[in-house]
Amino acid sequence: MSVTATIANVLYGPTMTLLDLAKADAAATSTAAATGGGGGHAKSSKPDTPSQRARLARNALDREMPRDVLLGAMAIVLLASLFTLSRFLVRLYSSSSKSRGTTSVSDGNLARGWFLQRGKEPVSESTIIDNEKSSNIVASTPRTGPPPRTLPLLSSLPWSSALLLAPLSYLPKPFRSYMSVNQLFFVLCLLFLTVFTLTYRSDLTRSTATKGNGEDFMRSGEVAMALMVVAIALGVRGNVIGLCVGKGYEKLRIFHKFIGRMVFVATVIHTVGYFSKWIRNGDVSAHGTLGYVIWGYVALIALCIMVVSSIPVVRDMYYGFFKVSHVIGVILMIVGLGLHRPQAEPYAIACGAIYGASILFSLTKTRFATARLEAMPGADTTLITIPELRSGWRAGQHVRIRIPAFGIPRGLESHPFSIASAPNGDGLVLMCKAAGDWTTELYEYACQGSITETGEKGRNVTVVLEGPHGGLGNIMLESFSSVILVAGGSGITSSLGQATDLIARAPTGAIRPRVVDIVWLVRTEEIAQPFMQILLDHVEDAKRFERNAIQRGLAPVALRIHIYVTRCSLDLPPSLLPYAPSSESFGSTTDDDKSEEGEIANVTGATPTLARTNTGKTQVLSGITVRPARPSFISILSNIADETVARSAREDVKPKGVIVTACGPGPMVHGVSEAVRLFEDYKKKEVGGVEFESQMFGW
Ligand SMILES: Cc1cc2nc3c(=O)[nH]c(=O)nc-3n(C[C@H](O)[C@H](O)[C@H](O)COP(=O)(O)OP(=O)(O)OC[C@H]3O[C@@H](n4cnc5c(N)ncnc54)[C@H](O)[C@@H]3O)c2cc1C
Repeated sequence: MSVTATIANVLYGPTMTLLDLAKADAAATSTAAATGGGGGHAKSSKPDTPSQRARLARNALDREMPRDVLLGAMAIVLLASLFTLSRFLVRLYSSSSKSRGTTSVSDGNLARGWFLQRGKEPVSESTIIDNEKSSNIVASTPRTGPPPRTLPLLSSLPWSSALLLAPLSYLPKPFRSYMSVNQLFFVLCLLFLTVFTLTYRSDLTRSTATKGNGEDFMRSGEVAMALMVVAIALGVRGNVIGLCVGKGYEKLRIFHKFIGRMVFVATVIHTVGYFSKWIRNGDVSAHGTLGYVIWGYVALIALCIMVVSSIPVVRDMYYGFFKVSHVIGVILMIVGLGLHRPQAEPYAIACGAIYGASILFSLTKTRFATARLEAMPGADTTLITIPELRSGWRAGQHVRIRIPAFGIPRGLESHPFSIASAPNGDGLVLMCKAAGDWTTELYEYACQGSITETGEKGRNVTVVLEGPHGGLGNIMLESFSSVILVAGGSGITSSLGQATDLIARAPTGAIRPRVVDIVWLVRTEEIAQPFMQILLDHVEDAKRFERNAIQRGLAPVALRIHIYVTRCSLDLPPSLLPYAPSSESFGSTTDDDKSEEGEIANVTGATPTLARTNTGKTQVLSGITVRPARPSFISILSNIADETVARSAREDVKPKGVIVTACGPGPMVHGVSEAVRLFEDYKKKEVGGVEFESQMFGW
């Protein structure tokens, strides 16, 4: 028996045939007749013949299908939630006051990441542990406690690397889709659900006097409606499904896109079917004047425009068109659908409710604030600092920003940017690379204000921020033994936010990694140059924090930044060297540090290795290195894994895994995930698993 038949038997009983349905299902028959069934547009009539009864019963089955789409989708969400349940429970536990023996909600951060909060002083009980006011990093009150507990990582299992990349990632460019195997699994589940609900006992043959039950094109319309509810639920920013599965809404976009295409396929079957039927019957024009058909056209045209605008090439070239067509299209589609047929009303209401709730949710997350814009020439980047918004986000999240001063229509556009600062610090910081019209206008606007009346750099402007959104969901970076944040170009923003947050929270004792490594790839030195002061400031802060922690006997966390300049001649050492003390002695800092913490061994090669002290004393590891090379992700991973295993052995603890995040251009992210996938299984096991999490600056 086929899988389809087995599932059908569970749902609809083992021995039903259309004729059985006709004979036995009087209730279904009367329901269908009462609601005017019969191909959706047939007149209600008392069933006389077996074929009529079969048709009415089949229509009753049709009505079951949208319900089954929703039930199936709920089952898939439940399954996905079960996969991530352990992570959620760990996060819940480490968010609770009991786990820390304190009264505050802290490290799991379940209560954070919802609403941006203002405040002159840091909102929580945080204090600056260093006296210097200029510190970029603000730490929480020292409060020693164990790091959050982690369950064994799935990725520590030998076969898990196969989960990382689906075969679709290896297809030629136009067909390539960077998808993991578990994403592919869920896509296949959704595909099965759609195909099953569209085809199971659906009769598309023409009815004649002797055979066939009539073209069943109503089913596809009903399935499309139900799928639309799922597509909208997956696409909105206030995303309940994301909450259930512990993922940011941007991670669900892949499923939103897939279901959207399934809606389109089902709608095309529905439309083409009825059209061909009307053409055969010669009553196309008569139908064209009927109200319900006109509303159907409205919904169809809206859907077509949305689908065309979301073809990757069109979307990338005309992002504004894509945005506007989605906002207007979804409203038109919901209205058109609601007025198309009475049975569509509940689905239209459900779509409207989900979309409306998401807009309301976004409004509650909206804040007006004064921002300081500063141009970073060379990097074509605008630094936006909003000192009054100090907390309420989790590292790795992003906000959407509007600048009303840009007028109409630019002032209405909202653009997403990762938060580059840790919460409870000196405010919210964004770094926006000039990539297109809006960001270039922003950059030029910031340049104009470079010399102000007060002699200060930059200019102030009112901004409208919506967020925070997205992020790492139930993943807690602090629960891993090592954290590697790989960034390409402007992807550094996200990595900086995550790294500084970990370092700032180190004094709570709840951070497991000893070192946070940022691997930053930049094409040229000119791009990196404007960021160097910011990076140095962070590293200086991290060093101070590290020293402070070492002195107090708390667990120190170091920040190591490895810059790789990928288009730079090997003969010419990068001119960034004056900023980064040495490109060879990774982890080395200043003479002052050396005398204070002991002798630091020289490190050779293009990848970082643990710097050790001869005296065995804990030393400051924070630092920056610059290399004119393309990094080998696999050797970076390998070195850091070895270092983690060695450190854990010295401390006599079991290593709790390495997390690798990648934020930047698609091929770079793909390269990192490939390195994680190819990393030797025995080493993965030894280090407690290697996990990978990607972030792309696009949909
Ligand atoms: C979650 C997320 C976080 C991001 N964080 C950063 C960051 O920290 N720093 C940074 O420099 N860039 C970041 N970006 C990219 C940034 O949002 C786009 O570069 C910017 O919106 C481009 O707008 P534009 O009008 O100047 O360019 P356009 O010419 O309109 O578009 C250039 C490309 O940017 C993307 N894009 C444009 N508008 C949007 C939009 N409203 N929403 C999403 N993508 C859009 C499209 O792929 C488009 O092809 C992030 C993007 C996302 C999705």
